[in-house]
Amino acid sequence: ESLTVAELAKKLNREPSEIIKKLFMLGVMATINQSLDKDAIELVCADYGVEVEEEVRIDKTDLNVYFEEEDPEEALVERPPVVTIMGHVDHGKTTTLDAIRHTRVTEAEAGGITQHIGAYQVDINGKKITFLDTPGHEAFTTMRARGAQITDIVVIVVAADDGVMPQTVEAINHAKAANVPIIVAVNKIDKPTANPDRVMQELTEYGLIPEDWGGDTIFVPISALKGEGIDQLLEMILLVAEVSELKANPNRRAIGTVIEARLDKGRGSVATLLVQNGTLRVGDPIVVGNTFGRVRAMVNDLGRRVKEATPATPVEITGLHEVPQAGDRFVVFEDEKTAREIGEARAQMALQASRAQKSRLTLDNLFEQMSQGEMKELNLIIKADVQGSVEALASSFMKIDVEGVKVKIIHTGVGAITESDISLAAASNAIVIGFNVRPDVNAKRAAEQEGVEIRLHRIIYKAIEEIEAAMKGMLDPEY
Ligand code: GDP
Repeated sequence: ESLTVAELAKKLNREPSEIIKKLFMLGVMATINQSLDKDAIELVCADYGVEVEEEVRIDKTDLNVYFEEEDPEEALVERPPVVTIMGHVDHGKTTTLDAIRHTRVTEAEAGGITQHIGAYQVDINGKKITFLDTPGHEAFTTMRARGAQITDIVVIVVAADDGVMPQTVEAINHAKAANVPIIVAVNKIDKPTANPDRVMQELTEYGLIPEDWGGDTIFVPISALKGEGIDQLLEMILLVAEVSELKANPNRRAIGTVIEARLDKGRGSVATLLVQNGTLRVGDPIVVGNTFGRVRAMVNDLGRRVKEATPATPVEITGLHEVPQAGDRFVVFEDEKTAREIGEARAQMALQASRAQKSRLTLDNLFEQMSQGEMKELNLIIKADVQGSVEALASSFMKIDVEGVKVKIIHTGVGAITESDISLAAASNAIVIGFNVRPDVNAKRAAEQEGVEIRLHRIIYKAIEEIEAAMKGMLDPEY
């Protein structure tokens, strides 16, 4: 286990600067956010006469801890990529997902009735790909906001007769914010008005440059409606997956994420889980989000009962006491008693947390967060009434540099602040700046729920001044 200097300082009840000094004396150069290895921690603790054992005990109820456990290199084997399809409305996301499903649902299993469980797998000459079945970036970002990053590759569908549209740009920014590789599917090439070159040209503005033009983004022309180019798209996905070297250890207890969940009249709590590591088996004692149970039955994407699910496989399970939420993580435990204890503790903690206020980034606590050295970048989303203002604001914001904290513009757009802006802000700990625009009703509600700060302005220099003042800790209190 490792701790940062700041975390260690807190555990030892000392100032971080003191720990840094001590480390320096012991011959270790460290900064406040640096994570220390076991040796360094032991050195410092020994110096204070503190036993390390009790200091680095892990919190068993924190499911994230189980995701950080590393597998021995030799236990790792290749696993299928998990793909999300995004793009502007009507550009063909659903049609593409259908085309992929129909051409490639394993021939041998063709008799099976495909079930909508929120994800499905296809098999290309023995290599599998997992697709999340909810197109669009809402689901993607909602999951990310909950801390779950399950997508390995994003396919952005752009209609060749329509070109880059606002949600195309949103999708690109969501994928970039999550650091996930992008493949562009230029769709509807069967249409006489299709102009794939224009799409490529337009996308260069967003840093997506085709290989032929010296860039490294893969573009695949397709017609989802006619099933053309789908094979090539799948091949390219496998290619990107290979480069990413996606691996997992099938020989450990399973961990993963909830894709969707609901209450079924007959079967009780039904959840689709994506196994991210290990193998999930019927009978496994499991904690899912804030609930727990034992995997009673598992059904795959073809509606067949299965006994086990390996990494990157989606399965629908029953046997949980309550209905978890999409984006919740799950962990299989050694026995039912442990699963119950941890599940109950988590339910209890969740109850308490829901009573406490959320503490997201706001301009008021910005300086404090900066001074704790925990922030390197201030993420902003800019929405304005005209493109000119967007650009003026963006370039001025980017020039602000206080205490080495840079402003990073993660998304911009013309028009009202939408729910999607808020979910991106929540996922990226960003503040939303509106210039001559307001949040729509849904955005307002979402911002309140998520605790995302929206700042509205009508004068450019005031907007700049405010951010700069907040970064310097000189913001006038608002009454
Ligand atoms: P989504 O909103 O992105 O999921 O888009 P849909 O998949 O629902 O597609 C929107 C419309 O475009 C539908 O009427 C589709 O039939 C049509 N469409 C999708 N792909 C193609 C294509 O390759 N060629 C043509 N001509 N139409 C397409």
